Amino acid sequence: MRLGIFADIHGNLQAFEAVMLSLSMEKVDRLFCLGDIVGYGANPSECLNIIRKENIITVAGNHDWAAAGKFDITYFNPMAKEAIIWTTQKLNKEEKDFLANLPLIHKEDLFVLVHGSLEEPERFHYIMDKKRAISCFQQMQKALCFVGHSHVPGIFIRDGQKVIYSSDKEIGLQEKLEYIVNVGSVGQPRDGNPLACYCIWDTRKKTITRYRVEYEIEEAQKRIMVAGLPTALALRLFVGR
Ligand code: ZN
Repeated sequence: MRLGIFADIHGNLQAFEAVMLSLSMEKVDRLFCLGDIVGYGANPSECLNIIRKENIITVAGNHDWAAAGKFDITYFNPMAKEAIIWTTQKLNKEEKDFLANLPLIHKEDLFVLVHGSLEEPERFHYIMDKKRAISCFQQMQKALCFVGHSHVPGIFIRDGQKVIYSSDKEIGLQEKLEYIVNVGSVGQPRDGNPLACYCIWDTRKKTITRYRVEYEIEEAQKRIMVAGLPTALALRLFVGR
């Protein structure tokens, strides 16, 4: 089985469509979204439509819940706040209800999905260092946890007491080890690479592989400017920061 897993679309329709096309060419069997469908980008409704039409299992991101009025916007920096207020005005009641009803955690037999961390998932902590990773590992009942939120792809691996970090493009999964996999961001990468990012977990080959996809960045930027969203949100797409 091949599972396509992605996060942080952030209303970037051009990036999301390119990722969906790439996923279909890669012949994945199931799709999962780790939240933040909306916020920052100019096409929140269109991105939501794809998630709903394709019945993609999705957990709640902080922007999703904030746009639905379910998460306090004082958490956000001024630019993010402005984008959330804009997004809230764009979405209809039904779309906001859908976002509000997204769960914080989704569990399957072999893995778990969460936007930020399993440590107080409702507070959306960033797993940026080993300390936060260990707090998440302590809450893990499965060997694999997929996360988003930081927009920086990479993998924390726990072997007993030892935790290491890998930014390798592909890793082979080993029994007895535990993994927290950040799948990167579809619509607003922040690892210095502007290409849209997602991962495929091949359960037969026991590999997790990161993919990067070209998309029409200029079009996404144009839409952000036309919408009257902060210009910096458009500019950062070019640099992937
Ligand atoms: Zn995000």
